[in-house]
Amino acid sequence: NRRATTTHRIALIPGDGIGNEVIPAARRVLDTVAARHGLGLTYETYDWSCERYADLGAMMPDDGLDQLRGHDAILLGAVGYPGVPDHVSLWGLLIPIRRGFQQYVNLRPIRVFEGVPSPLRDAGPGDVDLVVVRENVEGEYGEIGGRLGRGLPEEMAVQEAVFTRKGVTRVLDYAFSLAERRGGRLTSATKSNGIIHTMPFWDELVAERATAHPEVAWDQEHIDALAAKFVLDPRRFDVVVASNLFGDILSDLAAAVAGSIGIAPAANLNPERDFPSMFEPVHGSAPDIAGRGIANPLGAIWSAAMMLDHLGHPEAATRVTDAMATVLAKTPVRTPDLGGTATTEEFTDALLELL
Ligand code: ATP
Ligand code: MG
Repeated sequence: NRRATTTHRIALIPGDGIGNEVIPAARRVLDTVAARHGLGLTYETYDWSCERYADLGAMMPDDGLDQLRGHDAILLGAVGYPGVPDHVSLWGLLIPIRRGFQQYVNLRPIRVFEGVPSPLRDAGPGDVDLVVVRENVEGEYGEIGGRLGRGLPEEMAVQEAVFTRKGVTRVLDYAFSLAERRGGRLTSATKSNGIIHTMPFWDELVAERATAHPEVAWDQEHIDALAAKFVLDPRRFDVVVASNLFGDILSDLAAAVAGSIGIAPAANLNPERDFPSMFEPVHGSAPDIAGRGIANPLGAIWSAAMMLDHLGHPEAATRVTDAMATVLAKTPVRTPDLGGTATTEEFTDALLELL
């Protein structure tokens, strides 16, 4: 089911803050590679955002998922606004889309690029080239639980984590297949010495799925030790698979280690392609710099490249990531977060020239 068609309907949700600056930049890049590779991309833009929430009381309309369903992919900027609690944007938009469209794989590639200083001592280009595969729809981020005895000395809070054989198996199979394709190895992160029901279950399923992928060398680590190794020796990792919570933490850590949150991309994948997948930069709406035209567009552009790959155009995707690597390595043009003085538009212009 990887057969490539050449026309695709893309839903754009710029969202809030710098989402409105980086999505137009990503679109310029998409249009340029589409022209080079003979792809017909059509776009529909949705103004779903915290701003819409402030006006109308909802991040998206009631039939939002139905409006998105007919698209081949969704490209999202960022949602979030000062004063609007994070759970509004999370539960009002991101989580309904992820769960409604069974986007059970959250894929976050992390690379150290030449020309982007990493906070790691002696990390050089190519030293860090890994992918975090995060389970995206179950696990620790469940809704089961509650609070008892508010304000009392006996007050308590309980939250259940739910791991299903089906849910864990499918994300593990995705991660093992990805490790196979990358010719790499797989590391699974759990905490089986402290969390004694769900995590041993995950470990058992890793061992079980490993037998179906005998070419992949794999190991497992406790999340605490793994976090330390991400900082001390990230070179040893290739594909890292983890639960919803642990994957969330590890991917932010890895993105920071690679040098800039402005570059990191993410894909929320429905690997079976029964529903559209969603692509979004890791960064948020960045209200501190929004409206100034200086946001780094690379996170959105790399996300758009992942979208092209998912739609069956890996050469077009590689053209984009190669141009990213080149603009960083060979030109001084970059946005202020990377130590430059270029605007979002100038940085995008420099990239387009290389395309
Ligand atoms: P949100 O509430 O939407 O998550 P946030 O401010 O909490 O927004 P980020 O948007 O990720 O979180 O911003 C964290 C910091 O990184 C901010 O100082 C922001 O300016 C900076 N930043 C994030 N993304 C970019 C980008 N693309 N270009 C430049 N700086 C960025
Ligand atoms: Mg934030």
